[in-house]
Amino acid sequence: MTRLIYLETPELLECEVQVLSCEPHPEGAVLSLDQTPFYPEGGGQPSDTGYIGSAAVTMVMTNGEKEVLHIVDRPVPLGTQVARVDRDRRLDHTQQHAAQHLLSACLLELCNAKTIGFHMSEAYTSIDLDQKIEKAMLERAVLMANEAVREALPIEALYPDEAALQALPLRKRPKVEDNIRVIKIGDLDYSPCGGTHPGSTAGIGCVIVTRSENYKAGTRIEFLAGERAIRDTLNKNADLTVLSQTLATPVSEIVAGVEKLLNSQARLEKELRLAKTALLDFEAQGLADALNKAERNQLIRILEAKEMGELRVLAASALKSVPSGVLILASKSSDGAQAQLLCARGEALGQLDIREVFKPAIAVLEGRGGGNATTAQGGGPKAEKLAEALAAAEEALQVLI
Ligand SMILES: [Zn+2]
Repeated sequence: MTRLIYLETPELLECEVQVLSCEPHPEGAVLSLDQTPFYPEGGGQPSDTGYIGSAAVTMVMTNGEKEVLHIVDRPVPLGTQVARVDRDRRLDHTQQHAAQHLLSACLLELCNAKTIGFHMSEAYTSIDLDQKIEKAMLERAVLMANEAVREALPIEALYPDEAALQALPLRKRPKVEDNIRVIKIGDLDYSPCGGTHPGSTAGIGCVIVTRSENYKAGTRIEFLAGERAIRDTLNKNADLTVLSQTLATPVSEIVAGVEKLLNSQARLEKELRLAKTALLDFEAQGLADALNKAERNQLIRILEAKEMGELRVLAASALKSVPSGVLILASKSSDGAQAQLLCARGEALGQLDIREVFKPAIAVLEGRGGGNATTAQGGGPKAEKLAEALAAAEEALQVLI
């Protein structure tokens, strides 16, 4: 069993240890020590990292026999080595973890919301509550937690016997049965916990909720503590300043400003849709007139930068006016790299399968597509061969009619 320095004296981040075993591991080696300052992953808190001798510690975990295992990037000689915990990472995890105690205790105190889940990642920490929480109540809980930070309430580790344990107002039931460690935060919170904590709530720095959402039957709350919260606030303020300058709007009016912009965009999109429809109607009328006048009502046209949807609308509208017509429409994409081809015939030409006209043309474009006896469509990359493709379609059409 490894002696757990991170529990006994969490402030001790560098000490001599005895390497008792060093076994091969896919990432390097796995070490067991006589004692360890490294916090192993557990209880929602990620493990410490650091060094043992010259080997980097990448992961620390417990096995089922209360032994702590250290994954390192290279083998380490047995015997005395210096173990060094990454101070910044430990401080960060300690702040996020202890802030969770505090926020959960405040939410329980204020509205009897129980914490039923906890997750810590590199980006944020979240807790899951068993009930829906109103925004105003959440704000009260954040203010209460930060008041507790300012009061620098002592954070102590208790090891009560069975009788003393029964007398404590525990926020949650312990997960282990012996050697139960209870973390006491002033008179605000008593929680069984094996994590790392500062000596007082002042060490948490501050607590900021960044997001809350309905989650299952309750609420998921994301929060940041200490330096993470300060950095997040600085970054968001910088982003808001840029946004404010870009929109030429005071920060306090940005939400209304963006809503106004979105409304304006929606109105413009609607106007553009109506204008495009009117233009297509006009072009379809012109196409119908040309089709009517064309020899045998057969018309081949290259149209400027039209999407396939627009070609379909034009052809359908023109052929409705001229049911005995055949239309072969083509268009290049705006960058000229792709060609679109649509072949269609009117209802009066029931004997003509337009796919027989389409196939030789799309083959010239080295493209793909398909359709039915009345309309076939597709696109291809050989836009420079568009004229050749249209000639192939026309030749096929003359054979068929
Ligand atoms: Zn804890």
